[in-house]
Amino acid sequence: MNILFASTKEQPEFWFPLLQKALPQDRFFAWPDTNGGDIDVALVATHPGGMFSGLARLKLIQSLWMGVENIVGDPELPRGVPVARLIDPGMVAAMGETVIAQVLDWHRHFWCYRQFQHDRVWKRRRQYLASDRTIGLLGLGELGGSVAAKLRALEFNVAGWSRRPKKLEAVFCSTDLEQVVRRSDALVCLLPLTGKTQGIINSRMLSLMPKDGCVINVARGAHVVIPDLLAALDSGQLARAYLDVFETEPLPADSPLWSHPGVTVTPHIAALTEPRTSVGKIAQNIERLRRGEAPLNTVDFAAGY
Ligand code: NAP
Repeated sequence: MNILFASTKEQPEFWFPLLQKALPQDRFFAWPDTNGGDIDVALVATHPGGMFSGLARLKLIQSLWMGVENIVGDPELPRGVPVARLIDPGMVAAMGETVIAQVLDWHRHFWCYRQFQHDRVWKRRRQYLASDRTIGLLGLGELGGSVAAKLRALEFNVAGWSRRPKKLEAVFCSTDLEQVVRRSDALVCLLPLTGKTQGIINSRMLSLMPKDGCVINVARGAHVVIPDLLAALDSGQLARAYLDVFETEPLPADSPLWSHPGVTVTPHIAALTEPRTSVGKIAQNIERLRRGEAPLNTVDFAAGY
C-alpha cells in the first residue's frame, strides 16, 4: 500500500523508521510528495489545508492524534472514507501522569507552598485526605476511563460525565453535567471538541463548583471560556487552573494567562503521541484494511468525535 504522512506538527523522520519496520511491504511518502495522488492511507495530524483534494484512491484516514476535530472539521474531507482515531497506550499513560500530577499539586497545596517559599513564609494549610475530595471528569472515554481508575487507586472520589450512560467501578457516572459539576472539587476536561462541548466550562458551570477547587483543561482550548475562568479565579470561587491547551497555540505572549498567579500554563504537552507505542496500533489498522476488514476506532460523524 502507498501511505502518505501529512502533518504540520509531527516529524516524519521520527516515524518512518518505525513505520517501515512494522509495515515492510508498504511504501511511505511525506507530504507534499503524494506519489501522483496514488495514495491508499493518509496518516495525519493537523494536516496541510487542501491535501485531500488530489487523493482520489484514499481508503483510510488514520489520525496520529487522539483528538480529531481538525479532520472532522475539514470541508474537503472525502465522503465515505473512514477516519480512525489513534488510541495510543503511551499517550493514555502520559495523560494519567499529567492529570495525577496536577490534581496532587492542587490537593496537597504545592502551588501555595511554591509561593510561600518565594515569599519566605513558613505557613501550613489545612490537610485534606484524598477521600475528602471528589474529582469530576468531563469525558469518560479512553483517557477519562483510565484517569478515573488511577484517581480511584489514590482513593479520590471520582464523578464522571459522558454522552451515553456508563458504568465504571466505584465511579459516580452520569449524563447530567450539573450533577457531576456540583460535586466536583476539581474538574478535569477530557472531552473531544465538538459543537456540543465548546465553551462547556463557563461562568455558570464554575459557579456550581464547590469553592476553592481547580480546573484542569487537558482537552482543547475552546472548551473553556477564558474570561469566565479568570473571573472565577479573581473572585476566589476557584483556587487554581491548570491549562495545557489554548484556542490559539502557541499561547500569544500578551495573554493574561501567562502571568496570572492562579494559572499554570503548559504548552500542549499533557500527552504527546508516542511513536514507539502507537506504530503497532497504526499497523494493526493498515493490516485490517489489507485483509478487507473495517478499521478500528473510527470516528462517528453524527456525534462529531
Ligand atoms: P474518547 O475516547 O472519544 O472519549 C470522549 C468522552 O467524552 C466519552 O466519554 C464521550 O461520551 C464524552 N463526550 C463526548 N461528547 C459528549 C457530550 N456532548 N456530552 C457528554 N459527554 C460527551 O476521547 P479520548 O481518547 O478520551 O480523548 C479526549 C480528548 O482529549 C481528545 O478528543 C483530545 O482533544 C484530547 N487530548 C488532549 C491531549 C493533550 O496533550 N492535551 C492528548 C490527547 C487527547 P461517550 O462515552 O458517551 O462517547
